[in-house]
Amino acid sequence: MDGDSPLPADSKLYAALVDALPDPILVVAGSIRDDLTGRRFILANAAARELLRLKAQEGNLLSAVRDPEVLGAVDRALFDCADADGVYETTGAQSRSLRVRARSLGPGGDGVPLALLTFHDETEVRLVERTRVDFLANASHELRTPLASLSGFIETLRGHARDDPAAREKFLGIMQAQADRMARLIADLTSLSRIELDEHVPPRGVVDLALVVGEVVEAAAPLGAQRGVKLDWRPCAACEASVRGERDQIVQVVQNLLDNAIKYSPDGAVVRIEMQTGLTELAAAASHEGAPRLSLVAPDPSPQIYASLRFVDLGPGIARQNLPRLSERFYRVDGQKSGARFGTGLGLAIVKHIINRHRGGLVVSSVEGEGSTFTAYFPMAADPQGVVKAS
Ligand code: ADP
Repeated sequence: MDGDSPLPADSKLYAALVDALPDPILVVAGSIRDDLTGRRFILANAAARELLRLKAQEGNLLSAVRDPEVLGAVDRALFDCADADGVYETTGAQSRSLRVRARSLGPGGDGVPLALLTFHDETEVRLVERTRVDFLANASHELRTPLASLSGFIETLRGHARDDPAAREKFLGIMQAQADRMARLIADLTSLSRIELDEHVPPRGVVDLALVVGEVVEAAAPLGAQRGVKLDWRPCAACEASVRGERDQIVQVVQNLLDNAIKYSPDGAVVRIEMQTGLTELAAAASHEGAPRLSLVAPDPSPQIYASLRFVDLGPGIARQNLPRLSERFYRVDGQKSGARFGTGLGLAIVKHIINRHRGGLVVSSVEGEGSTFTAYFPMAADPQGVVKAS
């Protein structure tokens, strides 16, 4: 034993300890500042050997790292005894970003200066940061557009339209629509952040799915009627569809998927809403022969019995390459951005987070020019004996 340390002074144990550290570590030696090729690493733990694809514990530093930022940090630690940080980016299909820290270890036994080089993977942190910055940029852009339009019309109403009642009426109508658009956006943003906050808390209620759909369909009927879109909802009388969930959030899922089906339907078309219960897997048939299918939310791997809701429309459909991006915030398929169909681009992101929280699933299948089908799955609630009722 060494002094008061409970660990034995066993070099094998220390080597195993360094090897077991999850972050890559190199110890570098170098005696002459101008002799770059003379820098050697004299210890590389397992994580460092994997990261830098090293075959040995020792070798020439330049054969392991060529990044000038990292080499500069090593030199500052070796010759100026100063702490230095840098960033090391790996190349390849899955590039990673690592924070590098170089610290002086002072001279080794032979008097040669030593430095410790540690790498810490910050790829995920940077991704989260990037997503947050993009989200803020998108949200402010989406708010700025209607705001600019409102400011423009206020100026016009104060100027040449001041004494023109017809123009005033028309501009006020447009301003109202822009204000509504901002209100919708703010409501969706607030809703999304609240849902994300609760996403890891499983919902505790039990919801009658058929009842919820019935209410939402009834409320959406006037929206469909404006464009002659008929809503075809036929709940099966014998279907018991109690699902585990929070009622308000399930209403939001049904509302968003139904709104989209109506919004993207041609005038006079029919939107079908179908319910199935007692499903053991996410196996709803595609609405169109050979239609590409994609799971936007994969359900919990543990065995479940599901109830599903299918929203089938005869709208423009969605090209296969656009399917994976549908539930990204603010994503809209090109060419579907404007006009009376305007939405916030947040609807499917909200649906995705709610279904995630409910440990359900979401599948989209679509054929361009023929229509789309969105299917939401919710785990069914067990009855008091723990038996799930199937249809
Ligand atoms: P939005 O508020 O723009 O409808 P969503 O998040 O609900 O936002 O949908 C994202 C995009 O997915 C839409 O802008 C649209 O391009 C496409 N989309 C969603 N539902 C349908 C549908 N039923 N038919 C065709 N395209 C759809």
